Amino acid sequence: MKVSVDRSLCYGSAECAHRAPAVFAFEDGYGVVRPGGAGSGDEPEVREAAEKCPSQAITLTDGAE
Ligand code: SF4
Repeated sequence: MKVSVDRSLCYGSAECAHRAPAVFAFEDGYGVVRPGGAGSGDEPEVREAAEKCPSQAITLTDGAE
């Protein structure tokens, strides 16, 4: 599963960066996927971060890039 953050939806709660700090960072007021983290959508903490993002800005998608 691929991970992405839609910056137009993110309102900067930083929860993703706290839940899965290996994959998400908090930069310039937004949650971002760290370089190399885009393929980490199968990790339980990444799934949880996506489910609990208050603005539903984190998307997990199937498929190869
Ligand atoms: S949890 Fe959601 S709203 Fe909060 S910083 Fe991460 S992507 Fe943005």
